[in-house]
Amino acid sequence: MKAYVDQDTCIGCGMCAGIAADVFRINDEGKAEAYAEGDDSAVQEAIDSCPVAAISEA
Ligand code: SF4
Repeated sequence: MKAYVDQDTCIGCGMCAGIAADVFRINDEGKAEAYAEGDDSAVQEAIDSCPVAAISEA
């Protein structure tokens, strides 16, 4: 699954990168970005775990 992170909403907590480091990383602005497609269940877990609901399916 491909994911999208809303840069204005993300608070840079790092949770998504902790759950799926092969999909999400924290960029130079301190926000998460999805840099690769990942396993559906891992991406879904990140979507469900984000405290500000900044991640959506791309
Ligand atoms: S879990 Fe949500 S708020 Fe935290 S870094 Fe990822 S996208 Fe940003």
